[in-house]
Amino acid sequence: MSTKPNKLFTCEVCGEKFGRNKLKKHRKEKHPQPGPLILISKRGARVNERMPCDACKNHHNLLWRYSESTKGTVHICSVCKPKIINRSFPKLDALNFAQTGGGFESKRSKH
Ligand SMILES: [Zn+2]
Ligand SMILES: [Zn+2]
Repeated sequence: MSTKPNKLFTCEVCGEKFGRNKLKKHRKEKHPQPGPLILISKRGARVNERMPCDACKNHHNLLWRYSESTKGTVHICSVCKPKIINRSFPKLDALNFAQTGGGFESKRSKH
């Protein structure tokens, strides 16, 4: 048989085969990427109800509900909360402080 110029790629999720461009489209439509959960607003409400955390999928008795995130309304446990908050609102100030400085070192040439 003749070799096809278009190489087919297998979708890892459903096993179907597609051309490179079609696979990308297929994945987007059929298997939307989870992507990182990022909070848009820090405003969260405590939820005293046993339900799975949207980040770690474990059940917890105490969660926080955030209505503004990249995934709509989410419930986050106290374990995931600090991680997601750090990711959503990176402390840029601290980074800038670490990068500045270094100009204090005076170069003294000793003979
Ligand atoms: Zn698929
Ligand atoms: Zn969690």
